[in-house]
Amino acid sequence: MEQICEVIIDIAHANVDRLYSYLIPDGMTVEQGSHVLVPFGSANRQREGFVIRVFSLEEYAQRNSSEAGLSPAALKPLLRVIEPYPILTQEQIDLAYWMQKSYYCLLVDALRLMIPSQLRGSRIKEKVERTLRLAHPDEIESQLHSLLDKSGKPRAPKQYEVLETLQKTGLEMSVSDVLAYVPDAQSAISALIKRGYVAEGGHVTFRRPNIGSVSADKQVILNEAQEMAVEAIVRAMELKSGTLLLHGVTGSGKTEVYMRAIERCLASGRQAIMLVPEISLTPQTVGLFQERFSDGIAVLHSRLSAGERFDEWRRIRLGKARVAVGARSAVFAPMQNVGLIIVDEEHEGSYQSETTPRYGALEVAAYRAKQFGCPILLGSATPSLLSYYRALSGRYTLLELPERVQNRPLPQVEIIDMRQEFQAGNNGIFSGKLVQYLDECLENGQQAMLFINRRGYSTFVSCRNCGHVVFCDDCDISMTYHKGENRLRCHFCGSVKPLPTRCPACGKPFIKYFGVGTEQVEEALHQLFPKAVTLRMDTDTIRTKDAMQQMLGAFARGEAQFLVGTQMIAKGHDFPNVTLVGVVAADSTLMIPDYRSTERTFQLLTQVAGRAGRDETPGRVVIQTYSPAHPAIRFAKGHDYKSFYFYELEQRKKAIFPPFSLFIRILFSSDDESQLYSVVSAYADELKSALDENLGKEGERDILLYSASPAPIKRKQRAYRYQILIKLLRTARLSNAIQTIYAFAADHRNELFAMVEVNPQDML
Ligand code: ADP
Ligand code: ZN
Repeated sequence: MEQICEVIIDIAHANVDRLYSYLIPDGMTVEQGSHVLVPFGSANRQREGFVIRVFSLEEYAQRNSSEAGLSPAALKPLLRVIEPYPILTQEQIDLAYWMQKSYYCLLVDALRLMIPSQLRGSRIKEKVERTLRLAHPDEIESQLHSLLDKSGKPRAPKQYEVLETLQKTGLEMSVSDVLAYVPDAQSAISALIKRGYVAEGGHVTFRRPNIGSVSADKQVILNEAQEMAVEAIVRAMELKSGTLLLHGVTGSGKTEVYMRAIERCLASGRQAIMLVPEISLTPQTVGLFQERFSDGIAVLHSRLSAGERFDEWRRIRLGKARVAVGARSAVFAPMQNVGLIIVDEEHEGSYQSETTPRYGALEVAAYRAKQFGCPILLGSATPSLLSYYRALSGRYTLLELPERVQNRPLPQVEIIDMRQEFQAGNNGIFSGKLVQYLDECLENGQQAMLFINRRGYSTFVSCRNCGHVVFCDDCDISMTYHKGENRLRCHFCGSVKPLPTRCPACGKPFIKYFGVGTEQVEEALHQLFPKAVTLRMDTDTIRTKDAMQQMLGAFARGEAQFLVGTQMIAKGHDFPNVTLVGVVAADSTLMIPDYRSTERTFQLLTQVAGRAGRDETPGRVVIQTYSPAHPAIRFAKGHDYKSFYFYELEQRKKAIFPPFSLFIRILFSSDDESQLYSVVSAYADELKSALDENLGKEGERDILLYSASPAPIKRKQRAYRYQILIKLLRTARLSNAIQTIYAFAADHRNELFAMVEVNPQDML
């Protein structure tokens, strides 16, 4: 029975982002979600596509009468089906349509998020393991005999040995196992196959990421707060809806709550998705889940090899893994019966995609939760203001773990005023207190973590005579000195420059380096404590897939006493022997011109502080700063999320910043600044008219800010950057406004247009 299908072609272009009909030839099995090869265009080039719908001829004829389509006879037939199972589920296709509408993206761009890129273009193949077994087990004796010569010795000893090995084990064996018993037996194996004594087989194996050293799974008894949280989650799973916010201080056992909730979810026959920020998707976290759920989990993150990524995805798709743990994109995991979606560290900016389509993983999670009929669990020690606001207003259910497990105290936090240190004659990067504590830490055989938000050695280089600062030639930012490479590097575009010996502006040799980065902290530690071993973790030292795992493993085994690092060390880690955490310079994040800098600093300080004293020995935290009175620092000292929340919410209310409003920015760039200026001005005027028209009189007041101007970093990689920045009041009209902006952008494409960002994670 011939059928028709509608296909989206795997080409990301607005002109072809629509359904094309094809004939399914007799005998070819095609389903919704199948990955197919089709002839496309007038030249019939072979293209890959995704089957969105399948029809019988009658259904197609009925549709056609209204839609002026082609008659079936005029349709081109599909060439073949690429993958033996549908690669997209019905839910994923629905989700893609929703994304197309919500983010104004191409349908194919949304679909591409749902499958590993390795699947497209068939770049990765299944890994098949060759196996061997006896072809005729009942004739084995005579076969062995036939391999002997007259004196009873094997004529072909290798063949004899292989046959004997297979007889002894009595099982199908992989070729590699057989070769382990009988080395260099490749040609003997071929000969046995030719003789018909041995039969070949093969089965598909899955490449699994190397989990590495796994901490032993502790059997813990939940405390009362954890117990209550789990029960609340189970009730929500029974109700099949709701959003819960788990606010638990660092070390309160949130992970244990997640795992128990997942156990209950699996026990009810459903699957679970757990999102973790890429940066805290450490081998430790993964190991913990692996230990608890063994092969029932699949891991998805960017450090996997192409083959691993492909296979982990297929294990989920084929139902072999029932828990997907992964970064942002794991929200698209190809599951069909999800009972719980967890978002750990829900306040993290990395849940917002930075590439087209610019989706928010929390929004997508909310959509999927509705599809599946399941609750969402958001967790954090420092929830985003928006989530906590929603929890207090009753939209989310608030669950709290106010204390650390086993009554362990939160670490004592000391604030050191670096201005006083300087006045007292200390111009080093460590305060006296921090040096003393580091020393004690070594004495007691304990470990310390030192956090600094900048990589490199010095964050800028300037002339003491004239004040000239060395900038990147192509970007409007100062360059960072990397001592290891012995040159300057732009952290915006990556370009490098040799070190200046004289000032490029005044010619005097008074070049000086300012601002502390990770390299300098590492060096200072080495000078102070030459016997101690220091590890440095930042994007310069963590380049390969396994580097992070190796470094964390070495630190966990006690091979180093100090770990220096950027944000990478701030979250998720649970090192029982770490009793001291030092924040070398808390001010760097406060200086960033963004309405979120207070919130981000508080979150970061609370998270880093939370790495100390997680086992029996209480921990200590030292925060060095030039602004000790700053609220972000004061509240972090007291581990006082609630006071911080009420303080910061008040500030946001006064200035009508999010969560009371929303920012949208539209970025443009060009080498020609005057052209950029005129294009952006015209664009801004037209967009404003469109908004006014769509929002009406009432809505005009929702637009709190509307500006067209150079971006704060005006030049990047030689191109000038201008932006339209819009601040909208959060009202019922908000989604209408966003849709208007997206639609306008889709209808007014020009070469200078770079992107539309709703709730941009940075505004540089
Ligand atoms: P969080 O994610 O809230 O920072 P974790 O989940 O990492 O905290 O838990 C910290 C430590 O406490 C882990 O080593 C965990 O095994 C342990 N733990 C969790 N719950 C309990 C409990 N009820 N009793 C004892 N130890 C627990
Ligand atoms: Zn640059």
